[in-house]
Formats: sequence, structure tokens, C-alpha cells
Amino acid sequence: MLSFRVENRKLKATSRPRPKLRPGWARVRVRFVGICNTDVELLHGYYNFRGVPGHEFVGTVEELRGVSAAQKKKWLGRRVCGEINISCRALGRRHVCNFCRRGLKTHCAHRTVLGIIGHPGAYAEYLTLPMENLHIVPDGIRDEKAVFVEPLAAACEILQQVDVGKFREAAVLGDGKLAQLIARVLETAVPRVVMYGKHEKKLGLARRAGIQTKKVRGDASDLRRVKENFPLVVEATGSPNGLALAQHITEPRGTIVVKSTFHGTAPVETWPIVVKEITVVGSRCGPFAKAIALLRSGKIDPLPLVTRIFSLASAREAIGYAQQPGVMKVLLKT
Ligand SMILES: [Zn+2]
Ligand SMILES: [Zn+2]
Repeated sequence: MLSFRVENRKLKATSRPRPKLRPGWARVRVRFVGICNTDVELLHGYYNFRGVPGHEFVGTVEELRGVSAAQKKKWLGRRVCGEINISCRALGRRHVCNFCRRGLKTHCAHRTVLGIIGHPGAYAEYLTLPMENLHIVPDGIRDEKAVFVEPLAAACEILQQVDVGKFREAAVLGDGKLAQLIARVLETAVPRVVMYGKHEKKLGLARRAGIQTKKVRGDASDLRRVKENFPLVVEATGSPNGLALAQHITEPRGTIVVKSTFHGTAPVETWPIVVKEITVVGSRCGPFAKAIALLRSGKIDPLPLVTRIFSLASAREAIGYAQQPGVMKVLLKT
């Protein structure tokens, strides 16, 4: 099968046998892959990563191992997306870790992560995942939408962590791919959502989805220029400057949700957290079922966020294109 590996900060095409299966695992024929900023960071040396990247996918279940006939009937040939954290039980460990025992599989002490840590990802014709990670994609959701389930689930994680229904308004800092999904998710539960971003075109995408927008410069001058305050602020700029602005515009006793995972340090003073008694919540992977339900209901349509679709064979060109200014989601089709 064709796959692409990150090696020495380059994406290289390789041909290798189809992956073998452990009991309880599935082999999935990849249909579409989404290029995530994390993939770009892995390419640039984040996590000292070597291997096949890609964790946003939709595919078809092609083979299963060690499952009942009923399970086979249910899953074979079905379109699926998959949770990316692979935890103790699926890894075949006799003793499950404390976090798995508490039901926190995304924080498993021994976890591998599809296309990020220790498990080959979706920039390939086939991938493997434990059955317990898979979710069936309903027929009404086409591939180009289903490939957004993973990042949309990450946006939905905020709904699990914060009782957003009690807020009348919220701000989203950032206008990139994840910020766009977060703003759309908040918009389903909070009466007024305002996106602060640097890029007029990207802010325009948000406005077309009914989200208010404000343009900022993305530097320290924003601290003087932005006057509004919010009880809930989501930092999704992907930039070291975002957290300082988030603190600045958060009300006393407000909540900041931190979503950016840029590599490096953020230059922030922490006194505003103390003085305003701000709650800071880190937020990562989220509930797939909720993301699938939002796509199915039509409440969220991610298609306007797709800038371009490449073939898997053009993955190198595609990841280069994904880093161009103004480009939103780039997909690979196998
Ligand atoms: Zn991602
Ligand atoms: Zn575990």
C-alpha cells in the first residue's frame, strides 16, 4: 500500500505491506484524510516524530480480527471515523492504568495516538485501530464532512468541560480551522459568539455561519485596543500571543478554555488569573458521538472550510499548500 512517512523533516512516499491486525482491531481503507496543523508541526520536528502522520480520517472497515460474526456483520464495509487515543485494553495490557480505570482513556498512561505517538496514521491507503475506537458514519453525512468529526469532537470537548448554557456570550480567539469549528459549536448553545481574528477572509467564513467577528492585529497592541469583556473565552489562536489577550478580555470569575497547542512558550503574566479569579481549562480530544450528531442534524456544516482536495499521491504538495497563507482545510482523497 502507498503511505507517507515523516523522516528528517520531509514527507516521503513509501510502499509497504498492508498492516496486520491484533485481535479486536480493524483494518480501515482510508477514503479521506484531513491535514491538521499538528501534522505540519510533526513535519517540522514536533515530538521528534518519525512515521506516518494523519489522525483526521473517514474510511471503510475492510477487515476485523477476533470478533463475533454479529460484530462482523455490523461493521464490515461500513464507513467509519475513529478516536485517535489507543489505550491499555486495546494495547493488550494485562494491568490497565489508573486513568483507564477511571474511564479517562484519552489520558491513558500507556496510550499511543494515531498518526502522532507510536501508531501509524492516516496518510496511507490503510490504517488500523481498535474496534472500540470506531464510530459508524451515518449515510446522511458525506465523506468530505465526516472527515471533520475528529476536530469537531475536539471542539465539542468544551461542552463536556464547561456548562456553556449558563453564559449569554462567549469569545473565540483565532480564526483558523479549529477556532472556526469551536465558534460554530458554541453558537449552538450560547446566544452571542464573537470571533476575534487577524484574517478578513477567514472572519468572513465565520460571519456566513452567523458568528459575529472583530478584527485584531495579533500582537500586544490588541491589549490596548480590545475593550470588550466576556465571561467565557476560548483561546484557539495557535499563537503564543493568544493567552495574554484571553486573560485581558475575560471577566472577573470568568473562564478561559485553552485550545492552542503551538510548540514553544507563551509570554504571559499570570497575575490577571489571580486578580480576576479566572478559571483556566485545558481542552483536547472530545466526544465523537456529539460531533456526528451535529453534522447529521445540519447544525454545523464544515464544507465551506475546505479549501482544496488533493489525491493521497500528492500528499507532499498538499501539505506544502496547507501552509500557504489564507488556506483553511486541505483534504487528501485516496
Ligand atoms: Zn488534528
Ligand atoms: Zn491506560
